[in-house]
Amino acid sequence: MQTNSTAQKENEPSASPFNVVILGGGSAGWMTAAALANTLPSNHFNICLVESEQIGTVSVGEATIPGIHDFNRFLEINEQELIKATNATFKLGIEFEGWTKGGKYLHPFGPYGLNKNGVPFHQMWLKAKLAGEDVAELVKYNMEGMAAQQNKFSPKLNIPNFPIDHLNYAFHLDAVAYAKYLRQYAEQRGVERIEGKFEQARLNSDGFIQSLVLDDGREISGDFFIDCSGFKALLIEKTLHARYEDWRHWLPCDSAVAIQSKSQRQINSYTKAITHEHGWRWQIPLQNRMGNGLVYSSRFMSKEQAVEKLQSLVNEELITEPNHLHWVNGCRPEPWRKNCLAIGLSAGFIEPLESTGLQLIQSAIFRLLSLFPDKNFNQSNIDAYNRFANDEIKSIRDFVILHYKLTDNDQSPFWDYCRNMDVPDSLQNKMAMYQQNGNLFRENNELFSELNWLSVLNGQGMLPKTTHPLTTQFSTREIISELQQIENAYSRIVDSLPSHDEFLAMLAQ
Ligand SMILES: Cc1cc2nc3c(=O)[nH]c(=O)nc-3n(C[C@H](O)[C@H](O)[C@H](O)COP(=O)(O)OP(=O)(O)OC[C@H]3O[C@@H](n4cnc5c(N)ncnc54)[C@H](O)[C@@H]3O)c2cc1C
Repeated sequence: MQTNSTAQKENEPSASPFNVVILGGGSAGWMTAAALANTLPSNHFNICLVESEQIGTVSVGEATIPGIHDFNRFLEINEQELIKATNATFKLGIEFEGWTKGGKYLHPFGPYGLNKNGVPFHQMWLKAKLAGEDVAELVKYNMEGMAAQQNKFSPKLNIPNFPIDHLNYAFHLDAVAYAKYLRQYAEQRGVERIEGKFEQARLNSDGFIQSLVLDDGREISGDFFIDCSGFKALLIEKTLHARYEDWRHWLPCDSAVAIQSKSQRQINSYTKAITHEHGWRWQIPLQNRMGNGLVYSSRFMSKEQAVEKLQSLVNEELITEPNHLHWVNGCRPEPWRKNCLAIGLSAGFIEPLESTGLQLIQSAIFRLLSLFPDKNFNQSNIDAYNRFANDEIKSIRDFVILHYKLTDNDQSPFWDYCRNMDVPDSLQNKMAMYQQNGNLFRENNELFSELNWLSVLNGQGMLPKTTHPLTTQFSTREIISELQQIENAYSRIVDSLPSHDEFLAMLAQ
């Protein structure tokens, strides 16, 4: 049995430093390198990152969600500087078009209305709606949603005696510039970058990775290896054979083509996700250009058809060649095996509908920092990491599947498949609970809260049979008057905000 004093000794700084080797310099590699450089004391830890310019990165991943502020705060990044370096614009949510025959709806980042006596706002709104009252659509009680609809933006509100003092937002940013920005940050804090092409890994007798061998014969040895090699998963899969769970039967879109075009005249403060016959397409506006991408299922559409379709749908002048991407929606049940942890696309991927790629990377980094290993690589630590990572990605999976399942789109065999497919029990249960009486419950600290689920469930037309029993304390008349007040107040405030374009211009001065 280990005594306290031996346990302590194991954690004491030893003469030999702990060497961390990151393979891959996409967003995952440089986000990880930056965070580790910011945290690990340089007298005991060495960090190096191996990447190959010749191979390049996926060069997509341009829409973020508000969690990115936590990462920026953690790195003590000046966001104004980041916005400039990445030509970023502000994102208040996502507009979904064509996901139901009803047309468009917004999934905004902020809360709906104000809760009262412990009753969530949406329950009161539902009570009035189910009573047949002519209430405004839900987005009219959401400040971010209203601002997005009018293309307004301001991070701070500064309104005396008003309970909301800011808007919740994220960024649209240039993925290549973002990785470059973080590379500079990491290198300034001591991360060594090694340009070279990985060829194979050498293992010790316990099957732990000892070193990476590059194609010119150089050998990089380390204690802990972080696999950020993207979809290739060169260490976690090709070397350590950690299996991948395939979720394409629930998420059939497995391909995309991305093309950049010149900017539109007005820069939207939200991402657009517009359906087509075999999937959907994104519009992500940056200050200097527009990112366009067509996401599709390769079972229903060819690469050539996808390019042709996207080119026909983009009205502005195209400025890049098509970038083709292919993936398998799914996750690795063991993203951490032995002394190798996969972060980013090598760990798993859920298609980009809800912009969760960078968020999954940052939460993996925070989880790693909490459970950071020593040279013993304690298995219970690794098991805990893997359990939490799986819970997280599965809840995101369910949320994204919801968009495909809850649709009345019947324009093609692709949409017929989505509408009729079986979904995971965890999602089925959530949908059933909401359908019963509008109840939503955030489990296990999942990424998407009740408000996110509400936006999509309501936006895609699910109306509960009844409401929470606590709504009986309010009369419909009381609720209508409350709704009116909120709508009027929000609308007055949003009217007074600058447009997104004006705000970007002010920032550039
Ligand atoms: C179509 C699509 C759209 C997306 N949209 C969004 C979005 O809007 N928002 C969002 O948050 N996320 C999005 N993502 C996810 C996001 O792009 C990724 O999570 C993010 O870019 C991280 O990628 P990565 O660093 O894991 O992999 P990559 O960018 O592929 O980087 C892999 C790295 O490994 C290196 N490498 C590979 N092989 C070798 C070798 N043999 N030797 C040396 N180096 C090697 C490469 O050079 C590169 O540096 C999207 C993804 C896709 C596919």
